[in-house]
Amino acid sequence: MTNRIPLMAGNWKMNLDHQEAIATVQKLAWTLKDAKHDYTAVEVVVLPPFTDLRSVQTLVDGDKLDVKYGAQDVSKHSKGAYTGEISATMLAKLGVSYAAVGHSERREYHGETDTLVNDKVRALSAAGISSIVCVGEGLDVRKAGEHVPYTLAQVEAGLAGLTDEQLATVVIAYEPVWAIGTGEVATPEDAQEVIGAIRGKLAEQFSQDVADRTRILYGGSVKSSNVAEIMAKPDIDGALVGGASLDPEEFAKIARFQ
Ligand code: PEP
Repeated sequence: MTNRIPLMAGNWKMNLDHQEAIATVQKLAWTLKDAKHDYTAVEVVVLPPFTDLRSVQTLVDGDKLDVKYGAQDVSKHSKGAYTGEISATMLAKLGVSYAAVGHSERREYHGETDTLVNDKVRALSAAGISSIVCVGEGLDVRKAGEHVPYTLAQVEAGLAGLTDEQLATVVIAYEPVWAIGTGEVATPEDAQEVIGAIRGKLAEQFSQDVADRTRILYGGSVKSSNVAEIMAKPDIDGALVGGASLDPEEFAKIARFQ
């Protein structure tokens, strides 16, 4: 069984300008330093808005911080006449390690499909950036008891045809839409049920090796008060944290599962 290093990723969404970003990352890094956080044991990543990335890069490089940073989205295109888009190579130049793709807010408000997710994963992998592929069902699907097949279909299509090398840069985040930003957390058992099924799907679609080494996160109203029980589940390798990641002291506690 492969040793999967837990990953705690903070999705800031459209919050915090570049000055606030610097203060937040600094506070996060200091808090983790005071707690003697071992970044090799738990990776800590923030996903600020695009406009903050250059400032965060300067801070992280200048102060030699171990906090990693990433983007919340990426273009599937490599360059050209795509107004408003940001390419994976541009992100790589800014030292970005991760990018979220297929977040439920992108799926809902920007029509992002599994096919587009697949294209974005390929673009990110080619630029050496890890994708955090977000999947998860809405409330209707959950109520209908269809949450497992629904989520597995997103995994299947989002990762279709990827090579072993491309899959090596993929992290999956199971985020039931009804639990995002609502204060409604899936029970650890609910999260484990779907995340365990996703791991089984990876074994079936690719190989046991891919299933064993791919990190699968839970996302949806994670806080310091509920993270420990979520992380206690065998298939859950970390969390994608929205609201609570805007408070660096709270996010540091989450990163330490306290
Ligand atoms: C998210 O946006 O990915 C998320 C999980 O948000 P929250 O933690 O606020 O529910």
